[in-house]
Amino acid sequence: MSESMQGMHRSHRCTEVSNANVGENVTVMGWVQKRRNLGSLIFIDLRDRSGILQLVFDEPQIGAAGFEKAEALRSEYVIAVTGVVQKRTAAVNENLKTGDIEVIAKELRILSESETPPFQIEENSKTNDEIRLKYRYLDLRRPDIQNNLMLRSRVLTLMRAFMAKEGFIEIETPILCKSTPEGARDYLVPSRIHPGHFYALPQSPQLFKQLLMASGYDRYFQIAKCFRDEDLRADRQPEFTQADMELSFVDIEDVLDVNERLLQYVFKESIGVDIALPLPRMSWQEAMDRFGSDKPDTRFGMELCDISDVVKDCGFGVFTGALEAGGTVRGINVKGQGSMPRKKIDKLAEFAKGCGAKGLAYLCINEDGSYKSSFLKFMTEEELAALVERMAGEPGDLLLFAADKHKIVWNVLGALRLQLAAELGLYDENQYNFLWVTEFPLLEWSDEEERFVAMHHPFTMPMEEDWERIDSDPGSVRAKAYDIVLNGTELGGGSVRIHQNDIQEKMFEVLGFTKERAHEQFGFLLDAFSYGVPPHAGLAYGVDRMIMHMVHAGSIRDVMAFPKVKDASDLMSDAPGPVDEKQLAELGIALRGGE
Ligand code: ASP
Repeated sequence: MSESMQGMHRSHRCTEVSNANVGENVTVMGWVQKRRNLGSLIFIDLRDRSGILQLVFDEPQIGAAGFEKAEALRSEYVIAVTGVVQKRTAAVNENLKTGDIEVIAKELRILSESETPPFQIEENSKTNDEIRLKYRYLDLRRPDIQNNLMLRSRVLTLMRAFMAKEGFIEIETPILCKSTPEGARDYLVPSRIHPGHFYALPQSPQLFKQLLMASGYDRYFQIAKCFRDEDLRADRQPEFTQADMELSFVDIEDVLDVNERLLQYVFKESIGVDIALPLPRMSWQEAMDRFGSDKPDTRFGMELCDISDVVKDCGFGVFTGALEAGGTVRGINVKGQGSMPRKKIDKLAEFAKGCGAKGLAYLCINEDGSYKSSFLKFMTEEELAALVERMAGEPGDLLLFAADKHKIVWNVLGALRLQLAAELGLYDENQYNFLWVTEFPLLEWSDEEERFVAMHHPFTMPMEEDWERIDSDPGSVRAKAYDIVLNGTELGGGSVRIHQNDIQEKMFEVLGFTKERAHEQFGFLLDAFSYGVPPHAGLAYGVDRMIMHMVHAGSIRDVMAFPKVKDASDLMSDAPGPVDEKQLAELGIALRGGE
């Protein structure tokens, strides 16, 4: 039985009712969280997105028919109730915002009944992810997810308000775009009108926002849906949201300044976190050297220590071999873990191998100052002492070492550092360490493609002082690019763009593009720039990740309404799915079947 709400008008959300309303009539509507029958009284916990309110059904007040209806209520029924607010007669519930009041029901309508849900609607549900996502519409009723999405909405509202105040104009850019193979894999959309031709969904509004600068919009902002057809990791989704911006007539300092103030405002107004400005900055090189990562978590130490010079003549072939091959030897000091059992160290070695290491050398400094080590017999007393001194090793410490190419050593020790910090509880969840990482390399060598690829994207401006080395030593040229990092996660990134055609053309040449190919793919941008383009720069945030950090969500899915799972499918709607032969025919597409 479903009744109409005609004639009833919701006066309050559940937790808007308070002590101040005692003695007043209110009308509330929502879902039945819980029903308790205490003989002549029935208690209902009513839930809406604001929280829980206790309703009391007492036969003399609601009447026999109403009482009977209340007896029939089950979890997740949708009801409307009018009644009088009173102070709780029974014990006050400290855990509820409305814990000291209740509503004595005078009228009850059942607006919608509910089947028994496949899982209880409650905070921190233990229900497995597949069931949760199949019934996402129920999962979305859980208070923790509702709070996450409400915070998300608040953050976006705050961002828009701040950007508008700073003179940014919100402009929507297309979702159906041209495919540009530079970057991640595109999602393609077949064209019906142009058989054999495809649109690509945007990986970011990059080219459009640069065009908007050429068109004189000066400051652009957009909350933009972006799409990348990549294999998913824990904090990735095939479609995600960027807070995207671009500014004209600016250099790095201007972009960092407006973004620091944006972050300060948004974090304060949404979750009450104070951010001290200016934010610290670190060059990419320093981040790699000290933390083995271009997104260092600076909430704890355990920094990487270069011991290459100390061990260059030692008898341990693993170290000297790596150095002879042009690599490096570095270590981390895991303070106070010198008595870590061998089994655990072996586990760390396995972990290191998973990150690309051939092995993991270790040295435990016993409390009596003696050593236990995987390479003890290859080193002299003096060499060991020099090594320990360089690592600031003290009795009770565990020193771990990796020896290989720079990239591998950074990777391995950077990951080990994070892993150990998590295991040993070395950081505070509620600390927010922001950091700008700057001076990224312009180019990155791709073994797979056997050419340089742009580290950020091909439109990123090189640092002027390095540009003269673009032919002689392209790998050493740094870019005017920056990432904003929070607690070891890249929240966003951007760069100053190239606005000079000669630099852009050279850049394409270095990236291995012929003039023709560059024009075929980016001709419209290059053409636009030939009609007068201001110097410009921008940045984009990953909104989902930002919210994840704000609410300490375990998964990016907990801050998105309708996320996809690891294989990029939606368990609720079953997307992606097959389509009719007729639809394919219209698109001029024949499936290759089974290949
Ligand atoms: N479009 C870039 C990205 O998605 C951000 C930027 O350079 O503004 O990473």
